[in-house]
Amino acid sequence: MAVTKSSSDGAHAGPVMRKALVLFGPPGSGKGTQSKFLVARFGIPQISTGDMLRDHIARRDQIGKSVQARMESGALVRDELVNAMVRERLSQPDCVNGCILDGYPRTRQQAEVLLDLLKELGLSELVIHLVVDYNIIIARISGRRVCPKCGTLYNSSSRPPRVPGVCDRDGENLVIREDDRESVVRERLEAYERQTRPLIDFFRQQGSRLLEVDASHGAPEAIFGQILADLNRLESEVTLGS
Ligand code: ADP
Repeated sequence: MAVTKSSSDGAHAGPVMRKALVLFGPPGSGKGTQSKFLVARFGIPQISTGDMLRDHIARRDQIGKSVQARMESGALVRDELVNAMVRERLSQPDCVNGCILDGYPRTRQQAEVLLDLLKELGLSELVIHLVVDYNIIIARISGRRVCPKCGTLYNSSSRPPRVPGVCDRDGENLVIREDDRESVVRERLEAYERQTRPLIDFFRQQGSRLLEVDASHGAPEAIFGQILADLNRLESEVTLGS
């Protein structure tokens, strides 16, 4: 797999990956933003379990009702439910060339289920770990605002709206996402530290390929550049070694 874009005719001119890019990083590390860059570069879909769950809540369906309280308190949703959601999503035709997993897996059980599922689907995993200092995260998340109508994310320091407190796209008043409140952010960081971060070692032990990228400083575009450079290096090492 060459990871550089093979032609310049459009955003989805990326090569076939046949890989699940598994993004790890604490809440606020920029996983969502980097996922969007990866989508544009490689033309494979982003699967964000957080977005899928929020979607259920917005639709007020049964799943939404069953997860709302846990999500608002920063706790994790049941493994069985999230695993079933991901299995169903990964079986869609648009995932045949690979996908970007954002926010999944988050527990050991989810990681084991994922590895089995990828094997079944003939995809291999490549873990990208965004490393960020927790103090930086708290500062970042407390400046985060979202448009309740179109979902655009803003940040008072790194991506401010043109008019403070107002969405550039549709003029809606921006709000703080319920689970971006500081006490909840701390709870989410703890859940990440306790349950999710150890998964990086789990993947390492399973022999998965792993990239560690310093995502504490610099513009999102620069961090993405680093990810691409590391992906390319990893690929050429694999090619040379094979
Ligand atoms: P962040 O990465 O910023 O914490 P997400 O949007 O990924 O935010 O997740 C928000 C919330 O959704 C989590 O705190 C949790 O309650 C729930 N959630 C998302 N993904 C999972 C998952 N894989 N397993 C369990 N709960 C999840």
